[in-house]
Amino acid sequence: MQKVYTDQTLLAVTNVQNLLAASHISAKIRNQFAAGGVGEIASIDAWPELWVDYPDVVLAKKIISDYQSPNRGADWLCNCGEKNGIAFASCWACQRDNPALKATMADS
Ligand SMILES: [Zn+2]
Repeated sequence: MQKVYTDQTLLAVTNVQNLLAASHISAKIRNQFAAGGVGEIASIDAWPELWVDYPDVVLAKKIISDYQSPNRGADWLCNCGEKNGIAFASCWACQRDNPALKATMADS
């Protein structure tokens, strides 16, 4: 297994675990209970960690980096020149699919 993600909060780690589960990657959380008591600041060594089996490491890392991408939530520009909100899977003006969305689907 390999560590693919860590965060100060168990909530963030659990979110990513759920994200991976949606892609049928089973990830295990380590250090779940290692953090200090309430009010203490855990050292980075004690952060909850997300581990996946080796065959899933590459895909898991890709999903996580997509998830963390600063472009997430940004508008996308259609080939026709119209700007579309991230919530739209296809262009409101010409109905073409979001090319980025298509690429993501082809990858998986
Ligand atoms: Zn368009």
